[in-house]
Amino acid sequence: MTAPSLLILAGDGIGPEVMAQVRRVISWYGDRRGLNFDVSEDLVGGAAYDAHGVPLTDETMAKAQEVDAVLLGAVGGPNYDDLDFSLKPERGLLRLRKEMDLFANLRPAQCFDALADFSSLKRDVVAGLDIMIVRELTSGIYFGEPRGIITEGNERIGINTQRYTESEIARVARSAFELARRRSNKVCSMEKANVMESGVLWRKVVNEIHAAEYSDVELSHMYADAGAMQLCRWPKQFDVIVTDNLFGDLLSDAAAMLTGSLGMLPSASLGAPMANGRPKAMYEPVHGSAPDIAGQGKANPIACILSFAMALRYSFDEGEEATRLESAVEAVLAQGARTADLLGPEGGTPISTSEMGDAVLAALDASV
Ligand code: NAD
Repeated sequence: MTAPSLLILAGDGIGPEVMAQVRRVISWYGDRRGLNFDVSEDLVGGAAYDAHGVPLTDETMAKAQEVDAVLLGAVGGPNYDDLDFSLKPERGLLRLRKEMDLFANLRPAQCFDALADFSSLKRDVVAGLDIMIVRELTSGIYFGEPRGIITEGNERIGINTQRYTESEIARVARSAFELARRRSNKVCSMEKANVMESGVLWRKVVNEIHAAEYSDVELSHMYADAGAMQLCRWPKQFDVIVTDNLFGDLLSDAAAMLTGSLGMLPSASLGAPMANGRPKAMYEPVHGSAPDIAGQGKANPIACILSFAMALRYSFDEGEEATRLESAVEAVLAQGARTADLLGPEGGTPISTSEMGDAVLAALDASV
């Protein structure tokens, strides 16, 4: 059997620093678990612009379409602020998402016990939290036409259009139901069916898919504004939340903060299955390139490491190995290992990016 292929696009700022630790974890799986990957690396974002004058070359895009999964670090930085919009580092990332048609963005919000005091909410509200927000990523108001700023009479009018086709709703609903079956078997769908026709259709289609294909999964609906309140009040009532692009953008960021630092948050973006049955997939930490700490060995690599754990689970069907890696991270945090972003007001001595990598590898060693 050939090894599954991984394309690493480390990107800019702390991207290469955190990805270096993921490379060590990938090597560990080869050495200790016989789980080998065919790894290649390429440039994205500002790094690609510096080398080729574009934030993503056609060759890199073609490679991303061929591999089993893409692992991305982060893109962006102050050097590129004045570039034309079409050349900005972020365009590289958007092109990958668009051309790979990654319509389901999975954002877990998981609270590690050792970090429960980091949340702005009370410990008992967040301790043990483990929810997954599935955000539709390729349609909705960020893409709908007409859009623009027009002038009518002596007034300017800003226009964006929320537009969802039945098939766009159906495919992301299926992703959410499939995920729920691997978790606690509950989906809550969020929209604004009370004031938006796109929300009325969203609810209808989710109900139809549920009745026809997933009646074993518990389904509920909530208006997205009420959902936002419930997420802050008692987030543990949820398992999988499925929602559109705009609401998902807001709800996933709010949920992320339930769990503390940006340096802890992984994500996956999944598309349709490829010929080999694996979904088109890109895994990346939620954080950006953190120019304020880049090059100083301060970045927390855990978000990127947990993104690789998601790749193990969702692209390579290695759920047990994914759990092993997540448990290793949990053990390291329980032992008190903290990069600077994880130090509370009481302070302490932070460890470096590579020392956090050392600690995770030691915990992996201890797990076998
Ligand atoms: P950011 O996520 O890069 O940083 C926000 C804050 O969190 C900073 O103080 C940073 O030091 C800290 N932080 C982020 N990740 C960390 C980690 N792993 N460990 C420790 N601390 C961490 O967001 P920003 O400052 O708004 O943006 C910086 C650049 O990144 C911009 O160019 C922006 O466009 C880009 N960006 C890229 C992505 C992406 O690649 N997916 C996402 C967001 C922002």
